[in-house]
Amino acid sequence: MEKNYSIDSFWSKFLSNDIAIDLGTANTLVYVKGRGILINEPSIVAVRKNDQTIMAYGNDAKTMMGRTPGDLVTIRPLKDGVIADFDLAEKMIRHFIKRVQTNRFIRPRIAVCIPSGITEVERRAVRDSAEHAGGREIYLIQEPMAAALGVNLPIEDPVGSMVIDIGGGTTEIAVISLSGIVTDISIRIGGDEMNEAIIQYFKKAYNLLIGENTAEAIKINMGSAAPFKAEDVKIVKGRDLVEGIPKTVKVHAKEIQDALAEAVGYIIDAVKLCLERTPPELASDILDRGIVLTGGGALLKGLDERLRIDTELPIIVAEEPLTCVVLGTGRIFDNLTEYQKILSNNRRY
Ligand code: ADP
Ligand code: MG
Repeated sequence: MEKNYSIDSFWSKFLSNDIAIDLGTANTLVYVKGRGILINEPSIVAVRKNDQTIMAYGNDAKTMMGRTPGDLVTIRPLKDGVIADFDLAEKMIRHFIKRVQTNRFIRPRIAVCIPSGITEVERRAVRDSAEHAGGREIYLIQEPMAAALGVNLPIEDPVGSMVIDIGGGTTEIAVISLSGIVTDISIRIGGDEMNEAIIQYFKKAYNLLIGENTAEAIKINMGSAAPFKAEDVKIVKGRDLVEGIPKTVKVHAKEIQDALAEAVGYIIDAVKLCLERTPPELASDILDRGIVLTGGGALLKGLDERLRIDTELPIIVAEEPLTCVVLGTGRIFDNLTEYQKILSNNRRY
């Protein structure tokens, strides 16, 4: 990953001290101004149970998922858009920040994008972690704001902009106008729920037990939302629930589409509810300008088409749905005075 991003200049590497972090339920991204996105890894930590030693972070920890020996566990410190394990979340943030720091004498300014559902206590925990990691000034920004900035929506203007961010644990739908969130709905349905639906489907239909990583790969490769024409047929490997031995089954993409239908339905309903709650003037802006879809879930095949049909609104999938949040978070450093407004409800610590 790291090699894909250009280094603007030799010096910026040593002088840049503005770091943006997207602390997502599924993925953590770190962007350093002037250097690009340096970290883009799953928010996963592998821990040795007997003495709580951390054995791996991110990509390394993900490959261990479902393959660990008895004394090793893989943990996701964030679940359903909230911090499930403070201690590990903090260690993970510190680990990632350390990895991008080239100059330990310059203390960085750190902006962290947080799920809007998190509590004051959790917010404090995030800020403390960033501070312990060496942050000189910490800014917290809510996810829908960061996503909107990342896709260049005119958030300061008196027009309504709507963003849907489908992440691992949550789907956040927000209408933004005049640098504030006007309407905001967050549901605990996202990519994880879809993976779980696939796991359950294989259990029921084929007596086949598959792991989380396999379920995610199936979703990404053959998952879709109706009315997408799902035609692929693929072989899936797992363990037979009755016999206990490894087995393979042949599945049709339509089956996966059906398995995902419920989760997709919840997302559509939440979008409709958000539209119902949007003041009429802003709703008419959205009618003209459409809805921007971001987050990894935006990549589910056919989801944009489905939203287009169900809402009768223009739907625009962000160009880089997985990275726009961290880039949007980084943009606050471009003009801190201007963006102070959108940070205000998070207070500047
Ligand atoms: P978060 O912000 O919560 O960390 P992300 O925006 O990084 O989440 O999105 C991660 C989610 O997107 C995961 O559940 C992942 O499985 C899902 N995802 C990634 N690519 C695709 C794809 N092509 N189709 C469907 N889902 C995808
Ligand atoms: Mg996210």
